[in-house]
Amino acid sequence: SPILVWVRRDLRLTDHPALSAACQTGRPVIPVVIRDQGVDDLGAAPKWRLGLGIGHLADRYAKAGSRLVLRSGDAVEVLNALVKETGAGAVYWMRAYDPASVARDTAVKSALKEGGIEAESFAGHLMFEPWTVETKQGAFYKVYTPFWKAVRDRGVTEPVSAPGRIPAPDSWPGSETLEDWNLGAAMRRGADVVRPWVQLGEQAAQGRLGAFIAHKVSDYDQTRNLPWTDGTSCLSENLSLGEISPAQCWHAGRRAMEEGSKGAETFLKELVWREFAYHLMWHTPRLLDSNWREEWEAFPWNTDANAPDVIAWTQGRTGIPFVDAGLREMYVTGRMHNRARMIVASYLTKHLMTHWKIGMRWFEDCLIDWDPAANAMGWQWSAGSGPDATPYFRVFNPITQREKFDTNREYVDRWIAEGRKTPTETAQSYFDAIPRSWGLSATDPYPTPTVTVDEGRKRALSAYQNRDF
Ligand code: FAD
Repeated sequence: SPILVWVRRDLRLTDHPALSAACQTGRPVIPVVIRDQGVDDLGAAPKWRLGLGIGHLADRYAKAGSRLVLRSGDAVEVLNALVKETGAGAVYWMRAYDPASVARDTAVKSALKEGGIEAESFAGHLMFEPWTVETKQGAFYKVYTPFWKAVRDRGVTEPVSAPGRIPAPDSWPGSETLEDWNLGAAMRRGADVVRPWVQLGEQAAQGRLGAFIAHKVSDYDQTRNLPWTDGTSCLSENLSLGEISPAQCWHAGRRAMEEGSKGAETFLKELVWREFAYHLMWHTPRLLDSNWREEWEAFPWNTDANAPDVIAWTQGRTGIPFVDAGLREMYVTGRMHNRARMIVASYLTKHLMTHWKIGMRWFEDCLIDWDPAANAMGWQWSAGSGPDATPYFRVFNPITQREKFDTNREYVDRWIAEGRKTPTETAQSYFDAIPRSWGLSATDPYPTPTVTVDEGRKRALSAYQNRDF
């Protein structure tokens, strides 16, 4: 009987343990994507990017003699229906770790087993599954460095190659169409603006990894902090949808390290930050929606997402160039340099004393590399409310940060048009991307900050000192 391979955030054929295991049985394989509540709840850009990824994957499956079946509805119902229609005797998938997916997958597993259907989940989205890493006392890690030390010398399974041909069933179950799903519907800023920045699918991801290892990794420890250079791998877009496996990135990094590349270990460490985010989310799901350090519930956060200074922040017109450049980069490209992510998050949560959840949601709507664990950890780290976070009193100064990390203003010039006779193409493209209703133009004067960097800092620190926790 056929095996259903339930494809979720693992849009690849290479190093896909669930698919490989299914193919190895020699039984027919029916890959299926389910549009369930989890998909419907995604932010605009991640949902649009998922749609592109699914379309691309469908072509990959077709080239391997297979067909990607699309169905919408509750996962238990869809899978039960497919089991009936196809006579499938097993469902395989790759594990997810966020609380909503864990609850769904647990329900799916028991429903299938009740019906006498084999249900098997596989590792692969992570290298070190959250429950396999523990302290000597048997607890989970709350601090990154000991987590890194605990995993760095563990073996990571070598990636397996894509199956050549995927055994097909005699007849295919019906499929909905991606056009009908219209996953880009909420992408207000026009898919065509962001599309040129996308690198779609597993071959592109592998190309990215190859180019990074060949040309960038040796200086990565130096250049990764400079937002004006192209010094990082940009693989987050592909890792977030599983278009490449972390294990493949890890092995490429390890080989570079063994060959003497001095930036390679830093790259491995960053891959482990991703693992650490999942470790924290799995052990403490409140990472996603509540102050991880509970005392922060008492902090006088602004919780009004429509406050004028918060709107100005989302629109990239705070009047602080480094902050605005980051937010505009994200609006146009769907990505933001890590240094800028830290600066804009610090500015929102400290200078504007606004709840990190408001910023986290904006990122969730805009990022094509959106990742539930990394985004939540990044925001709670920046706000000071997370585990192993930067202390609240350490307020990034976005002016001196610009001087240090964008000394020649290349990054801010790339993204800010106002006040320049001939703005760069990218800076102009921001104004082409934003909705008319924002009423902004590249010829407007550059905004003055609603709060100066010094005043904002003092205000935040005094709220922090007067806190009743
Ligand atoms: P590289 O520097 O090439 O790093 C390689 C890989 O390591 C990345 O692709 C990523 O998977 C992982 N990585 C690197 N830094 C981190 C980190 N700090 N935390 C977790 N994983 C990391 N990353 C996301 O993938 N999705 C998000 O939604 C996200 N939101 C963030 C929000 C805030 C406020 C902050 C401060 C950081 C956030 N990050 C997020 C982490 C980081 O900014 C991005 O992973 C990184 O910028 C991606 O670029 P890159 O692929 O070129 O990374």
